[in-house]
Amino acid sequence: MYEATSRLGGRLFTEDFAGDPLEWGPNTLLSSHESFDELITLAGVSEKQRVADSRARFRYVWKNGKAIPLPTGPLKALFSPLLGVGACVRALCEPFVPQGDPYQDVSSFFSHRFGKTIADNLVDPFVSGIYSGDSQLLSARHAFPKIVGMVDDHGSVLRAGIKLLKNKKKKKKTQLVNFDGGMSTLVDGLASRLKNSPQFHKKLVSYDQTDQSITLTFEEGEKSTFDKVVLALTAGKLSRIVKKESRSLSSALQQIPCPGIAVVHVRGAKLTTPVPTNGFGVLFGRQHPMEEALGILFISDIFPRKDRQKHFCVFLGGRRFPNVNHMSKSQIEDKAINILRNSIKMQGDAEDVRSQLLSPGLPQYEKNMYTIDMLKSRFHKNNRNIALVGTWSGGISVLDGFKNVNETLKDW
Ligand SMILES: Cc1cc2nc3c(=O)[nH]c(=O)nc-3n(C[C@H](O)[C@H](O)[C@H](O)COP(=O)(O)OP(=O)(O)OC[C@H]3O[C@@H](n4cnc5c(N)ncnc54)[C@H](O)[C@@H]3O)c2cc1C
Repeated sequence: MYEATSRLGGRLFTEDFAGDPLEWGPNTLLSSHESFDELITLAGVSEKQRVADSRARFRYVWKNGKAIPLPTGPLKALFSPLLGVGACVRALCEPFVPQGDPYQDVSSFFSHRFGKTIADNLVDPFVSGIYSGDSQLLSARHAFPKIVGMVDDHGSVLRAGIKLLKNKKKKKKTQLVNFDGGMSTLVDGLASRLKNSPQFHKKLVSYDQTDQSITLTFEEGEKSTFDKVVLALTAGKLSRIVKKESRSLSSALQQIPCPGIAVVHVRGAKLTTPVPTNGFGVLFGRQHPMEEALGILFISDIFPRKDRQKHFCVFLGGRRFPNVNHMSKSQIEDKAINILRNSIKMQGDAEDVRSQLLSPGLPQYEKNMYTIDMLKSRFHKNNRNIALVGTWSGGISVLDGFKNVNETLKDW
């Protein structure tokens, strides 16, 4: 394994703050994901799981100056300011809606199937929170493949959902999981399984292949030869490396937007009014924006701290707010504080504020994903001994990335 920096894990990175883990990338994995058990068993971290507090099932969406709880049942949906009777009736008509354009963006797909209120008030804020994306640009088929697949197979999401419920074996409970010591524990567990020690500060710049072997060239000019190679890089980096082999794939990869995301941890915040920080967090959609905010995670509610100090993590930027890339650290931190003051009514100053601008951020599955998928499978057909993996296709979560690796390498 060759790694350009001085540590493994890429975006998974936990900073230890006086024994309190502070995440700069992912905060949670979903235990119901099909690859969850396999990954944590492989890493040997099953015993180190830290399951989110039951309060984390409550989520909020920002609307008209308030954090509105997401309805947790049909009756609550009828009376929720996010939905209401009209939106619920429209959603129930979904089985009678024609299939529609198979290449729709996320916003059009959900508006078409469930009505505009659901698309605007539920889906769009989730797109901010999960993809840091723009629901009017993301491809529905690539961003929500299971949901679009339900329409392909059953003509309706609700009809498919009812069938699934009928045939369902006892389903595993969905939990949000981190680990003692944070996400870096997962990385350390996986690293301990490597047969050969990873080589750090080895930045791959190109490769050459013959019928029998592949020679990698690193930045310092050093070379190493192998019979098979897995390239697990972000889209922009991979684009440069595959240019010689496939100009079309290289240029398609280059076009995947990966807008920067600013992550701001705010600890020791004081809240004087009873605000709804009893849950996972609050999301901001395009209809009811607050500055450049994508969402706020209530970290100290998800994983309660012994000292009961409040800890929030504010995410800013993404596809709709590219200006975050040009802000200074102090501008970003001031924005985050302002967002906390105006939303959850934080009072005064926090004890500790730290931030990072993650650029490139998350890959955006937009229109050119059809081309990417086609060129990726063509590349694999023509280059049997080189596997291209990474979250630039096949799902953006850690577990999607792991599943993607397993599927790509199953014939090796
Ligand atoms: C703010 C944020 C929050 C997130 N939250 C979640 C979450 O809660 N749950 C979840 O499941 N996912 C989450 N994700 C997504 C998750 O972080 C990614 O799915 C995952 O980290 C991607 O892993 P990767 O290995 O494909 O890429 P990366 O993590 O980017 O790793 C790429 C690695 O390749 C190395 N590299 C790059 N170029 C070279 C080169 N030329 N030579 C050698 N090495 C090179 C890099 O240094 C790096 O180590 C989040 C992402 C972000 C940005």
